[in-house]
Amino acid sequence: MGGLTPRAVPVSDVGDRLDELRAAGLHRGLRLVEGPQGPRVTLDGAEVLLLCSNNYLGLADHPRVRQAAADAAERFGAGAGASRLISGNMEPHRRLEERLADFTGYQAALLFGSGYLANLGTIAALARRGEVVFSDELNHASIIDGCRISRAERFVYRHADLEHLSWGLRKANGRGALIVTDAVFSMDGDVAPISGLLDVARRSGCRLMVDEAHATGALGPGGRGAVAEAGLGGEVDLVVGTLGKTLGSYGAYVCGSAEIVDLLINVARPFIFSTALPPPVIGAASAALELLDGQPGMVEHLRQNGAILRDALAGHGLDVGDSRTQIVPVVVGEARLAMELCERALEGRVFSQAIRPPTVPDGTSRLRLSVMANHRADELCAAAHVVGDAADRLGLTGPAPAGSGVPADSRLPRAA
Ligand SMILES: *Cc1c(COP(=O)(O)O)cnc(C)c1O
Repeated sequence: MGGLTPRAVPVSDVGDRLDELRAAGLHRGLRLVEGPQGPRVTLDGAEVLLLCSNNYLGLADHPRVRQAAADAAERFGAGAGASRLISGNMEPHRRLEERLADFTGYQAALLFGSGYLANLGTIAALARRGEVVFSDELNHASIIDGCRISRAERFVYRHADLEHLSWGLRKANGRGALIVTDAVFSMDGDVAPISGLLDVARRSGCRLMVDEAHATGALGPGGRGAVAEAGLGGEVDLVVGTLGKTLGSYGAYVCGSAEIVDLLINVARPFIFSTALPPPVIGAASAALELLDGQPGMVEHLRQNGAILRDALAGHGLDVGDSRTQIVPVVVGEARLAMELCERALEGRVFSQAIRPPTVPDGTSRLRLSVMANHRADELCAAAHVVGDAADRLGLTGPAPAGSGVPADSRLPRAA
């Protein structure tokens, strides 16, 4: 090692960096939760209403999903042994891909280790050095990292702004390779303008990739997602989905043409250089997909619950942004205020997360609540009351907008 020159600056001190995070109100820690991700959980010893899980339809601990995981472990073992290009394509993986392609209306699908890896691998496969990727400013971190790793230039367009995107595409002068967007924005609960984006993509000869992570099971006919809701299944070039949220398991998939999937098998590094998903995980996701396909009523229930929570929070004078899904933000601005609101909600047995930079832009820290299909209406209204009260005490509420509030007919029968 004799040839190396000494560092110009000392290695950064871990303790100092943690202190910096604490001083900025950005330090994060893990909380211990007991039992499965149900509508209620035990958190640090107390029962709370769980309003921050992505297990939207409660499938993660559905008896049929648990059993399918156990059965797959019995039949195929706990692990997949290697990457699928190395030790072979196992039957459960192949079958789940066929089902996912069918479900979303595409020729083919390819499984990835997670949504994070799917975005990394797919963006890097489809956009190369010298080309440009167009990315919504509120896209998920995995998309941002996918853009970085691709070595393509990145143009970040203003949130859902087709004008700004079109302007960027003109500037790119034919070098545009890919437009990429969240379907449901994960911290805001609003929905991307899919058909407008596809128009822009078609006009400019760019591909469009939509990440349905929070849209699967929530939007579209039978929970097929935002692309299906827009009637564009099979039209949008690529759709990414995760098995870890609504589908109650772990892993992810990309749907597209047979040709695109063939390319991904050949060049997507997280697919090539990482062990295939474990069979029990595939078994669970397959069972969850079957349940979703067979019981579209769950999706409707989730939709209604999202509306109940949104209306109740707005009725308390809280700003829920443009949410129209199961994800409802209460934007408060300062990171410390969001933390304070989170703690006070927890005192009222409402478990939701404060979301701070870098997950959201500076000055837009928020409490992010997300409902599940198996929450009861009275629980959601009570939760809105707790959050509203806490916000009042922190001086965060304005006057309630006219016409908001919980409509009398929004009460649901008790869910099992
Ligand atoms: C959660 C999420 C991911 C990551 O998916 P995982 O399977 O959890 O890795 C990707 N994109 C979006 C928009 C997400 O919300």
